Amino acid sequence: MKNKTAQMLNQLRMLFFQHMQTRQGELHDETFLETFLLDSKELLAMEEVTFFIFDEWKQQFYKEASTGSLHDYIMEAPVQEYMEKIWRNQVGDGDLMVRMQAGVLDIHVVIPLWDNGKVIGVTAFKEREDSVLSSLSMEEGAIFANEFTTILKTAISISKISDDERRYKQLFKVTEKFHSSMSRDAVLGEIIATLHTVYPTFDYFLLLSHDHDGHANLPIKELEYNSDNVAALQAYVSGNMEFEDQPSENQSILYAPLKGKQGVYGVLQIIAPKTLTFPKQEIEFISLLANTAGSALENAQLYQQSKRLVADLQLINEISHHLNSNLRLDETMEYMKRQIMESFRAEEVGFMMLDRDDRWTFLSGSSDFFDSGEVGLYVSFLIDRLGQEKESLFIGDLRVHCQDEGIRYLSLMAVPMLEGDEGKGFAVILHTEAYFFSFDMFKLLRSLIHHSGMAMANSMLREELEKMVITDHLTQLHSRGFLDERMSRSIEEDEGGTFIMIDIDNFKTINDTYGHQVGDEILIQVANLLKHNIRDHDIGARWGGEELAIYLPREPLETGIRIAERLKDKVRDISNPGVTISVGVTHWGKGRPDSVKEVVKRADEALYSAKNSGKDRVHVHGILQ
Ligand code: GH3
Ligand code: MG
Ligand code: MG
Repeated sequence: MKNKTAQMLNQLRMLFFQHMQTRQGELHDETFLETFLLDSKELLAMEEVTFFIFDEWKQQFYKEASTGSLHDYIMEAPVQEYMEKIWRNQVGDGDLMVRMQAGVLDIHVVIPLWDNGKVIGVTAFKEREDSVLSSLSMEEGAIFANEFTTILKTAISISKISDDERRYKQLFKVTEKFHSSMSRDAVLGEIIATLHTVYPTFDYFLLLSHDHDGHANLPIKELEYNSDNVAALQAYVSGNMEFEDQPSENQSILYAPLKGKQGVYGVLQIIAPKTLTFPKQEIEFISLLANTAGSALENAQLYQQSKRLVADLQLINEISHHLNSNLRLDETMEYMKRQIMESFRAEEVGFMMLDRDDRWTFLSGSSDFFDSGEVGLYVSFLIDRLGQEKESLFIGDLRVHCQDEGIRYLSLMAVPMLEGDEGKGFAVILHTEAYFFSFDMFKLLRSLIHHSGMAMANSMLREELEKMVITDHLTQLHSRGFLDERMSRSIEEDEGGTFIMIDIDNFKTINDTYGHQVGDEILIQVANLLKHNIRDHDIGARWGGEELAIYLPREPLETGIRIAERLKDKVRDISNPGVTISVGVTHWGKGRPDSVKEVVKRADEALYSAKNSGKDRVHVHGILQ
């Protein structure tokens, strides 16, 4: 009989080595254990052989491999009872092989797997009637169990090695990819793909706290702060793995934090279906994967951050540069508005200033909304808040601060534009959606306004100065202030006079085509032509921008029209690059009350009508004498 046992064991060993050989030294087979169990089943003429592994943490056995179907296996009562005895330490490590009867025909043989006096697993054989094991004596059984256990241990470790090898190869591949990827979504996608390859039956979700849109096909869930997901939050906050067994759902869940050096970037949720406890041997691998992913996410995030910072600096640089090229105030503000709308996707941009009479007004360049009646609500809120705080304002939902039915814009940012003696002003930007602006955007707006404050102050100062001096710097014509003063004096003292208002046609196109420098030169050319067409006591002035004006004291309307027509023709013929002008002419005379304002208004209307009827022409407002 001893011979028979020895023979049987030899056969088993032989089969074992044969399998090793067919693998030609490469142990790529996580089914090695199954193969070994199958061999044992055939050799020993068993009905089914199943190996259970003992989970020390949970104090529970679970099926590791079986020749039958893993899921359908029903553990019969005597086997279960025996297993319970083992983990309650009611069985010593002397127990090598136990036979038990279950039902009339079913016999089970159980061989515990010991390691240093502790049980690490159990092999359960379901016998057929003609089983070899039943014919062994106690002594033979002990020898068999001993040998079987040794081979089994090797088979287990081979299985585990090849399993690990496959996974670590995968991990290595993933790590390589992570390090070459600077995109957060690519990293997240890679984690999920890897997990799907390694554990195809599990379900995965990424729980992220600050989720941004734009990742298609990723199983992302918002990590919400509520009591439903305590384990997930715990993993997020502590940075440690958390387990949640849900026997009622017949599933077990692992939460692995995606941890980098500076923080936790989210939690990976892995659901193992049809499992009572999360398979312990997988935990190390998943933890490695999660840590690698955490670092990769951190890198990607830092990279995106630095890219954004560079872009921000570029924007600030570009804007400061542009503003320093001596623009007029309205152009400066118009430019700022455009940039802010574009960079912040703002819906409304306004520049709020305290004027000389201590009244809040909006500078030209502010979007039209700030001219509407609706703006009052926001202005009173701003005055209220800015008066108190004198700082910037960053408001995500205006409804929280201001209970008014009429509030349409919920996101608001306001940043001081000018400080110190220059006067007081704020840039205000609005969006209808609540929490539309991020804090990063707020910081950017602050630096932007801070850096452009000087340029805006300069533009304002220049405009102020221009009003004070009597000669326009660029055209060497008189200033508007001077013309104003002379005209009102003439209206008081003289019998009559003629006023001519000139506007260069399509001047914006000239600037856009040739640049501001050339635009300036043309303004000078037109101004020079103007000077040559009037006499000494006439007053030629720069009215503002590309608008010029002439006042002819005591001259009749006809003279004005003649001068205007001549000037219009000369500009068209001589200017280079060629431009045309539109002109409005009007007259005042004793006998009807008039003011500078009225006269200017009439000339303006004439000019407007000249523009509307095709430009390059002179229109008159008034009665010919
Ligand atoms: P329109 O025929 O209707 O008058 O068209 P326009 O383009 O001349 O009119 P608009 O008022 O839209 O634009 C006036 C432009 O004149 C805007 C501004 O760029 C330019 N401008 C105003 N002052 C100056 C200046 O001092 N130098 C230069 N180069 N351009 C100026
Ligand atoms: Mg104009
Ligand atoms: Mg014009």
